[in-house]
Amino acid sequence: MNIIDISMELNERTIVWKDDEPPKLIRLARIPDAPVNFTWLDFGAHAGTHIDAPYYLFNDKWKSDEVPFEVLIGDCQVLDLTEADDMITKKDLQKKDIYLKRILLKTKNSYDKMEKYNPEHVALTEDAAEYLRDLGVILVGYDYQSFERNGECKIHRIFMEKNIICLDNLRLKDTVEKEYKLICLPIKVTGIDAGPSRAILMEE
Ligand SMILES: [Zn+2]
Repeated sequence: MNIIDISMELNERTIVWKDDEPPKLIRLARIPDAPVNFTWLDFGAHAGTHIDAPYYLFNDKWKSDEVPFEVLIGDCQVLDLTEADDMITKKDLQKKDIYLKRILLKTKNSYDKMEKYNPEHVALTEDAAEYLRDLGVILVGYDYQSFERNGECKIHRIFMEKNIICLDNLRLKDTVEKEYKLICLPIKVTGIDAGPSRAILMEE
């Protein structure tokens, strides 16, 4: 059994949404000046690898702690879309044999060194999102802060209307196009729109 960590490192250097503050890891106490090492964390719920819960756009839908484990754990497919330079379209997805309900989209973004926010990151078209939704997908993973370059949330709305979970900020360069078992566990912060997560893939 091989385990691949597809999570992003979360620290002061983590690239976050262009309008957000970078994460702060405040070192409140450090040995030997203090008896313990103790760190205070201060960052947005969408920093680093995280799930977006449908509550992000809909008050009456799942919050991040309410998303069932049955969605977050199970077989998934990585789709290699690294040939796309700009947008992933429905046509790109139609070339793939999509037969599972958890889909991770591997793009050039996974090779970005993540030294600064890239406003031109590879993104998803609306028809691509609608195509995945209509296939009955329950979780879509992506390798950047958002499927979208602007803050309009059109893609998020297409997914979240159907309770499709978005798993953002994955690092997929160590994966290939095939089936894996996904385990993604958001921390149990209650009542909010997103859950910072550790996400791993397992392969036989
Ligand atoms: Zn998010």
